[in-house]
Amino acid sequence: MDNQLTYLQIAIPVPMRQSFTYAVPEALIKVNFIKGDRVLVPFGHRNLIGVVLAVSHECDVDSTKLKAIIERLSDESRLSAQQVDFLSLCARYYHHPIGDVVTQALPVLLRQIKPIDLSPPACWLKNSKLTDEEFTLAVNGFKKVAAKQKALLEFICEHDELTWPEIRMAGYSKAQLNALLGKELIVEQSVKQEPFVCKENSINHDDKPQLSVEQSLIVSSISQQLNSFSCHLIDGITGSGKTEVYLQIIEQVLQQNKQVLVLVPEIGLTPQTLSRFEKRFRVPVVLHHSGLNDNERLQTWHQTKQGRSAIIIATRSGVFTPLVKPGIIIIDEEHDGSLKQQEGFRYHARDVAILRARQLDIPIVLGTATPSLESLQNALTGKYQYHQLTKRAGKSNKASLTLIDMAKEQVEFGLSGTLKKAIEDTLKRGEQVLIFLNRRGFAPAISCQECNWICECQRCNKSYTLHQGQNLLVCHHCGSQKRIIRQCDNCGSVRIKPLGQGTEQLEQRLVELFPDYSSVRIDRDSTRRKGELAKLLQQVSDKEHQILVGTQMLAKGHHFPDVTLVAVLDVDGALFSYDFRAPEHMAQLLVQVAGRAGRESKPGRVMVQTQYPEHPLLQDLVQNGYEHFAKYALIEREQAMIPPFAFQALFRAEANYPSTPQTLLREVSQQDFVGCMVSGPIAAAQEKKAGKYRFHLLLQAKDRKDLHRAVQQILANIANHALNTKVRWSIDIDPQEL
Ligand code: ADP
Ligand code: ZN
Ligand code: ZN
Repeated sequence: MDNQLTYLQIAIPVPMRQSFTYAVPEALIKVNFIKGDRVLVPFGHRNLIGVVLAVSHECDVDSTKLKAIIERLSDESRLSAQQVDFLSLCARYYHHPIGDVVTQALPVLLRQIKPIDLSPPACWLKNSKLTDEEFTLAVNGFKKVAAKQKALLEFICEHDELTWPEIRMAGYSKAQLNALLGKELIVEQSVKQEPFVCKENSINHDDKPQLSVEQSLIVSSISQQLNSFSCHLIDGITGSGKTEVYLQIIEQVLQQNKQVLVLVPEIGLTPQTLSRFEKRFRVPVVLHHSGLNDNERLQTWHQTKQGRSAIIIATRSGVFTPLVKPGIIIIDEEHDGSLKQQEGFRYHARDVAILRARQLDIPIVLGTATPSLESLQNALTGKYQYHQLTKRAGKSNKASLTLIDMAKEQVEFGLSGTLKKAIEDTLKRGEQVLIFLNRRGFAPAISCQECNWICECQRCNKSYTLHQGQNLLVCHHCGSQKRIIRQCDNCGSVRIKPLGQGTEQLEQRLVELFPDYSSVRIDRDSTRRKGELAKLLQQVSDKEHQILVGTQMLAKGHHFPDVTLVAVLDVDGALFSYDFRAPEHMAQLLVQVAGRAGRESKPGRVMVQTQYPEHPLLQDLVQNGYEHFAKYALIEREQAMIPPFAFQALFRAEANYPSTPQTLLREVSQQDFVGCMVSGPIAAAQEKKAGKYRFHLLLQAKDRKDLHRAVQQILANIANHALNTKVRWSIDIDPQEL
């Protein structure tokens, strides 16, 4: 009978914006399929891994034409039904193909056909067969040379079960472990696959500070709302004790035996953050970030899915980690740009996390010293609960911000006289200096001194950046490289000179200017090798270097107590940018760097070089601080009717000739969209990149429903348009960069 047949709706990682119906073959007819199963399916000439979105006994297509799945993969790797619903929700919100959304949420190893090993890892614990007497006797019998063995034994006895990575991290060797095994003092077994349970000693109350009044109000307010959805913005200056507030809320959540997901910016994931969590909580803490290998990521995923991990500290993509007993989501530095994925599935981890918290009916906490204008507006209108921390936790000490008027200065190597003097004074006092220049390389261009010709990348029509260290010209737009040219392409002159200054050159100049001090450069070029960033940061905190030169990379996550002067060399670009978010990001950067510097006894100073010291944005920020600046910026945004007072979606299209993307975007948007304004097609700010011509179509609406309807209509128009295969296009909901 037909109604006994089972049909599976499956998400498959192909660029098509749909799911696919498959039949269940004879051989699997007894299998009870459920939503979230991973299955192997034939697709075209290949076999692919898919995820079951729905199981039904009816089929609205011609069932004789359906292909059958090949097999169902292990239960262990199944997604929960809730997870599938959540991913479907994300796919609808971002208008992104469901197959790709589901795939991105899976660890790499689960996207592959290769078999995976999810068997529990080994762990070691005290041999419970020994009586206390026998045990003490054995311990006392350790020879002096075996002190390390004895210490390891004590370490193992203090903990329930320790895995090899934990033992290795604590500084012990396999040989020491094997020796203890040989003496039958410990036994090996598989880790228990049981969810974590909060015990008496799981929370370490030593070193737990007495909360300030502001802090305890926030902790008690949020603690009273742990059992349902609520969204909180904690707006507190750097050092005001936000992390301490998170820790004390987390404590309450752990006591309910629930899991905590903490999202942090890309490189904010410093050892300090982790060690603070580990000091406070003796519960399984797992990490999810780009430094892990595929197998480690799979283990983290699995451990969390089984409820064995209590706290998950993760970067952006960790927002998809499967929680079985979700308790709370915390997003530190919610304003941070790294939370938005800028290619493929262009989600914003903060917004996705809010969707998720709502679905799971748990609270979510956003914390920052410089709220994004979106979150601030939601807090001011009461959509989020707004909490402020206005005082520093230690002795109050705010860094001062001063502007240097470049028009009035003697400038040498991009440094004004005033700044040079300030650097000198700071170094003489034995303190450190941090100099920001958001431009990598030696010089942003090379040019001919005879005819002013500039060496440009033909694929982007932008100047090549000179990287002297690598002896290369590199296009920062498409990544193409070529050897340094010695002669002008235009007039043949050999008088070729670098133009402008990047971090590489600045570092060299600083060595010339301050030969008695050591400089270090921290940017993407100098930290390419794994572990290099951590090494350089360690050298800085060991005071091996007195001068740090870096890009924005240095603005996040790190604290430099001996840096008392921060100089920002180039902010002017942001004042006149075509991107309406540029001033917001500039203000966040300045306030964040100010917060990274100094300590109680040595306050920090921030000096900003500008050609426009009278600019109202800069003046507002310097005189009145971020909060005032942000509220003023909100008024401007409201008058201009741009986000957060309207919602946007951006279609991007590119092709080998400028006419094709333009024609496509024009023809798919020639109709009235109710409640939605369409602008474009217009050329992207960088019209040519990597040989492709790029155009944008911007949609804006006051109501999200109107925006989504218009996006849907245009997507349908594109699907029916003859040019859709000749143009590479994508859709970005809530774009952060225009
Ligand atoms: P934030 O996350 O806002 O930058 P932290 O939570 O890291 O602030 O706090 C800054 C410093 O102040 C830390 O060293 C922290 O241990 C300490 N601190 C936080 N809250 C208190 C408190 N109530 N009493 C004393 N010290 C505190
Ligand atoms: Zn020339
Ligand atoms: Zn290029």
